[in-house]
Amino acid sequence: MASTGRMGNMSQPKQQQQQFENFTASSLYCDKCKAAMPVRERLLLILPDKEVYDYLCTGCASSVGSREVTAGEKMMAQAAAARRPRRAAPVQRLRL
Ligand SMILES: [Zn+2]
Repeated sequence: MASTGRMGNMSQPKQQQQQFENFTASSLYCDKCKAAMPVRERLLLILPDKEVYDYLCTGCASSVGSREVTAGEKMMAQAAAARRPRRAAPVQRLRL
């Protein structure tokens, strides 16, 4: 059997994931751990017009922060996740 050495799997720059990284916090500073720890998002409270999320430290399981998501933000986030906008960015050509 011939081993497939060349797959053409080169590393590609991840440009589209930057928007989602800004939306969710991956790590927050924990007072108990004295360091920036990865956090776990937990739905804490559901209100008619917004939802409150609690961030728990994965090291000591203590709350290190919270975030409120309004109904409008939630709808926009769900819409963005459900459908991928294929709208091309406007390109301006510079004339020399
Ligand atoms: Zn901690």
